[in-house]
Amino acid sequence: MSLQKVFESEFSKPTVFLDRNKIMPHYTPQNLPFREEQTGAISRIVAVTLRGQRPDNLFIYGKPGTGKTSSTRHVMDELGTFAGTKDLKIRHVYINCRTHNKKYKVLLKALHQLFPNEPDKAFQGYSAAYLYEKLVSFVRDSETHLILVLDELDKVRDLDELIYSMTRSNDELTKGGISVIGISNNLLFKDALDPRTKSSLCQQEMIFPPYNAEQLRTILEQRVQEAFIPNGVDPGAIALSSAIAAQESGDARTAIKLLLRAGELADDAHLERVTDAHVKAARTSVEQEIILEHITVLPEHEKLVLYTIAHLTLNKKPFQKLSGEKVEGVLYSGEVYEEYEKVAKKFNFSDPVSARWYREYINQLEMYGLIVTTASGPGVKGQTRFIKLKVDAQKIKEVLEKEFAG
Ligand code: ADP
Ligand code: MG
Repeated sequence: MSLQKVFESEFSKPTVFLDRNKIMPHYTPQNLPFREEQTGAISRIVAVTLRGQRPDNLFIYGKPGTGKTSSTRHVMDELGTFAGTKDLKIRHVYINCRTHNKKYKVLLKALHQLFPNEPDKAFQGYSAAYLYEKLVSFVRDSETHLILVLDELDKVRDLDELIYSMTRSNDELTKGGISVIGISNNLLFKDALDPRTKSSLCQQEMIFPPYNAEQLRTILEQRVQEAFIPNGVDPGAIALSSAIAAQESGDARTAIKLLLRAGELADDAHLERVTDAHVKAARTSVEQEIILEHITVLPEHEKLVLYTIAHLTLNKKPFQKLSGEKVEGVLYSGEVYEEYEKVAKKFNFSDPVSARWYREYINQLEMYGLIVTTASGPGVKGQTRFIKLKVDAQKIKEVLEKEFAG
């Protein structure tokens, strides 16, 4: 086939998608059902800027896919629009700390957004202190209320310093000010914060709960209307996607990805309608994708604990209960902790976390659906917790080894 023909057949190929963009994970819908309460609360916090006051800092947390990023961006965009119509000096910058993971990088990114006409290199090579001064003088000179939205802020390595600087800056400002909205996918992060950082950052806090199957179905129905051709998706496919996502984690991203991949499978098969069979076929690869995404956002030592579990799962012989029954792939909580201490040394990580934190990590790994734990119950000496990996051990090892190396 000539290349022109290849292009022609791609161009005229029938597709179930009306606008594929609308079902991509990065798309922010205008309407966010089941988040009215949260968007309302965020709006009320930032709305004090409209009366010339500085908003409290706000810390938002919840499991991945619960709408934290979309809701916050939506509120900030709306505030920007409103402030524009009233000619008010209210600005926000959105920064994802996964890539901007140091105070220096956060300041640099903020300045780039506030001075869009400066060449890219304008602020590079200066000290963090200089960048800080530049930011504060921008706010002072323009008498602006600046809101820094720091998404995935648990990734900032020198977070205490960053939060301290931002808080302190307000002592130097009489008109205008700087507030922080921090967002984290990590439910345990708040408790690990330095007390001073915690009291500054968490002046207000908000948790985003997971969605249930019914809510996910409504979210998907709305998305399907925008993204797929009329009757392009069988109601059974929507119901199944929401049920799977609700069962896994209540994560809207999983639900949306399932439908996206199912739609691609329908296209590949030259079908005009997505059915639950496509969703079923998409399930394994989407689950793998999501699991890998969850893993990369875990705190370093939690990754190490997970790595240890995968390692032991692959290498440990089955053990025997007192009843003689053989159990495979099941680990004692205590042996995992001991091995984790060794693994942390081997990979040159900082000191292993305490046993108490280790138990928190185990709870969190279970919540993410990566492991299951059970109390030992009868038939085993003493009291312990058993741990079993729910995902492919080899795959986990490979992914984490790559993470540790990079
Ligand atoms: P988080 O930041 O909590 O991980 P996101 O805001 O990135 O979650 O949401 C994940 C995906 O799910 C995005 O594609 C988003 O558009 C969608 N989503 C989340 N909550 C809703 C909702 N209430 N209504 C519609 N779409 C939603
Ligand atoms: Mg997010």
